[in-house]
Amino acid sequence: MRLVRLVYASTFLSDTVSASQLKKIHEVSVPNNSENEISGMLVFGNDYFLQCLEGGRESVNRLYEKISKDDRHVRALILSYEECHVRNFSKWNMKFLMLTEEQKELIRKYSISGIFNPYNMSGESCIHLLSELSNKYGTDEV
Ligand code: FAD
Repeated sequence: MRLVRLVYASTFLSDTVSASQLKKIHEVSVPNNSENEISGMLVFGNDYFLQCLEGGRESVNRLYEKISKDDRHVRALILSYEECHVRNFSKWNMKFLMLTEEQKELIRKYSISGIFNPYNMSGESCIHLLSELSNKYGTDEV
């Protein structure tokens, strides 16, 4: 099975779900992804999600299909889908990071402004941003 990388953006339904459920999403994702040999990173900021899923083509496609139907978020939009030779996030079954003011400069490096909006970013910029964030903040191994 080929190794692929999928990156998508979506919008959190903050009216209906409390922020503590972000933690729950992460807790469910880590063992599920481990079982399916999926690695990746999920970031949340400004009510948007940006997630990268890496793994076997069928596993990644199946997971994205499930995630895109999750009613905790809307407007899921694939920004990049490619076969890849190497995983960027092999250390994590799903690294999770909440964006804060601290990452503003880094976001501006890959966007028009420091305000996080993955719908206005290229897929390539999103992958670079996630990689830099994981290098800088990825100290734990989940
Ligand atoms: P489900 O029956 O879908 O749910 C299992 C448990 O999740 C439930 O018992 C419940 O506690 C909780 N849950 C599910 N839906 C809701 C809801 N609408 N409101 C409150 N609680 C709910 N899953 C992964 O496995 N890997 C990922 O990388 C991943 N990334 C995600 C990223 C985002 C932005 C979102 C919104 C979800 C993500 N999920 C991920 C969760 C995924 O959509 C599924 O809920 C999860 O995989 C469990 O699926 P399931 O079919 O096993 O069980």
